[in-house]
Amino acid sequence: MKKTMDAVILPHRLLLIVTICSSLVVDASFVSTSMSCGAGDMDMSMGNLIPMRREVHGDGRILDITHRYTKDMPSWLSSNGIGQFLWLPNSMKNGSITNNSEMKLPTHTGTHVDAPGHIFDNYFDAGFDVDTLDLAILNGPALLLDVPRDSNLTAQVMKNLNIPKGISRVLFRTLNTDRRLMWKKEFDTSYVGFTNDGSQWLVDNTDIKLIGIDYLSVAAYDDLISPHQILLKSTEIILVEGLKLDDVVPGIYDLHCLPLRLLGAEGSPIRCILIK
Ligand SMILES: [Zn+2]
Repeated sequence: MKKTMDAVILPHRLLLIVTICSSLVVDASFVSTSMSCGAGDMDMSMGNLIPMRREVHGDGRILDITHRYTKDMPSWLSSNGIGQFLWLPNSMKNGSITNNSEMKLPTHTGTHVDAPGHIFDNYFDAGFDVDTLDLAILNGPALLLDVPRDSNLTAQVMKNLNIPKGISRVLFRTLNTDRRLMWKKEFDTSYVGFTNDGSQWLVDNTDIKLIGIDYLSVAAYDDLISPHQILLKSTEIILVEGLKLDDVVPGIYDLHCLPLRLLGAEGSPIRCILIK
């Protein structure tokens, strides 16, 4: 009798697990979750192969603060997102022995890093590309901070944040995160960022060498160029833009950011994680 009951109940359990995992995958683009569905959670024989897509790894110890690259992610001044950036010219369905995709992507797309050559042509000519960025700055203890939601990052705001001397990496979480701008296809010029005086204050009064921000530019739209110039002039400060800072508790983490070694490129997609 027991055997018969198990035989009846088990498929329902499996169906439930697969259903939960399916809804997690759908939601994964929109919410961070510490839950995960692993291959061990499902019955491979059912034909429902559902891969894991996680925002958090290792039981909550590793937080992925990189945005997933999709055709609908925002692109500078575009109302239609980045569009198709990935193709599969060689596909197994068409007789290739493997699948081999190709991509074409502006280097300042999604979560990415700016090198000094982005804003200074003489630095560009001299070779200050993403390959020259210091991994010792891109990796190390970082402070995730919430900033006031009613202002750009001005000198006054920076002063009020009281960032201690000696802090060399700061991730600024702003209204951009609350407005979920990085999740919106349409580029939004009303994002917040550094003003001229805010960036000058940072250079003059802090030891910050890595600035992280939660939209596509570290500089406010109305002050677009000069904050970049102020921050990148010394070639000692690295700008990481388009970070995914949703659902992360403010505080100190170990930050790990690794750009691609694109020789001659003044920007690169970058994978950034926080480790508790
Ligand atoms: Zn950039």
